[in-house]
Amino acid sequence: MSLDLKGKGINTRVTHAGENPDSIHGSVAVPIYQTSTFKFRDADHGARCFNGDEKGYVYTRIGNPTINTFEEAVTELEHGFGGIATASGMAAVSSVYMTYLGAGLHMVGTDAVYGSSRMVMEEEFSRFDVDYSFVDTSDLDKVRQAMRPNTKLLYIETPANPTIKLTDIAACAEIAHDHGAILVVDNTFMSPVLQNPLELGADVVLHSITKYINGHTDVVGGVIIAKTEKDFARIKGVINSTGGTMDPHQSWLVLRGMRTLSLRVKRGEENAQKLAEFLESHPKIDWVRYPGLKSHPQHDLATRQMNGYGSMISFEVKGGVEGGKIVLNNVKIPQLAVSLGGYESLIQHPASMTHHNIPEAERLEAGITDGLVRIAVGTEDVEDLQADLEQALALI
Ligand SMILES: *Cc1c(COP(=O)(O)O)cnc(C)c1O
Repeated sequence: MSLDLKGKGINTRVTHAGENPDSIHGSVAVPIYQTSTFKFRDADHGARCFNGDEKGYVYTRIGNPTINTFEEAVTELEHGFGGIATASGMAAVSSVYMTYLGAGLHMVGTDAVYGSSRMVMEEEFSRFDVDYSFVDTSDLDKVRQAMRPNTKLLYIETPANPTIKLTDIAACAEIAHDHGAILVVDNTFMSPVLQNPLELGADVVLHSITKYINGHTDVVGGVIIAKTEKDFARIKGVINSTGGTMDPHQSWLVLRGMRTLSLRVKRGEENAQKLAEFLESHPKIDWVRYPGLKSHPQHDLATRQMNGYGSMISFEVKGGVEGGKIVLNNVKIPQLAVSLGGYESLIQHPASMTHHNIPEAERLEAGITDGLVRIAVGTEDVEDLQADLEQALALI
């Protein structure tokens, strides 16, 4: 890396992390090495690359300069030892499960975790005799009670989706380590700009870069960043052999999106704070959940462990499902779509969309009520977003 980023601000780090000018032509943007394999100079060179005596690329599933540039950049932003880019966020989640779990082993996870992160455990990993407990990790006593002698992984998502409940990362790191387990944090909702779990004691952090890191609603991808060389090597070994790796072109696109991460995240957050305050004072709204509101039960924890409050808001419209539908069908700027973290605002109804596959009792237990609407606030003018929500709410 040409520029020493130690002690530099987040905007400088987002702009320059992983910068590695092309030594052949001086290309400022990283070239797309769209190749599946790499030619060796001679037989000895090939042998040295394979046994690790010489650093060199051999095959794109194992390593590629475009992919590595992206991995180095995110690793820098998360203060880790090394990162591995994956084909999707779920490839990152399942690779972490595969790394740390096995027959007879157990994991503890956040109950309101991303729907598929729960489903892949309950329906697929369980077939291999992996055991699990999904609990409300915002309650540390529940986390402690769920830990067993065979618990190898504590897997948390904070803020959790779509309840916007937070989990204390530093406290969970202590609980995990006291039990000989690893703490993995899904940091998708915050991005490396607003939260750095490795700095708070987590061992591994992962992202669906489909969301904030890419930020342009045009790529699916994931990344895992480990704090130590040992964990990095274990995870990389699993991914190299199972094959859920990223493609060079995909890496180039996400690196391109990532260069504006801090601008987009800060702008979305400013908009979200204003919209959350507007919604909270609106007579057609029962409650609003946003970490930047004083009314959020964990506002103090948010201020302590996050560098900002993000741009995800959940709210309950008066009139339950019907009220929520009126809002979804009448807003003009936020598009009715799942996902988040793009430049544009998106709105959705978790009970019928992202969390439809969770049994009703478990869904309600996790706080995902029937009338809950989730909005991912984008970079539009907040006055326009507010006026739009206002006219939709007036129809209830
Ligand atoms: C979207 C998402 C995932 C899954 O990522 P994909 O890129 O869709 O595979 C995992 N965790 C969280 C919090 C997400 O929002």
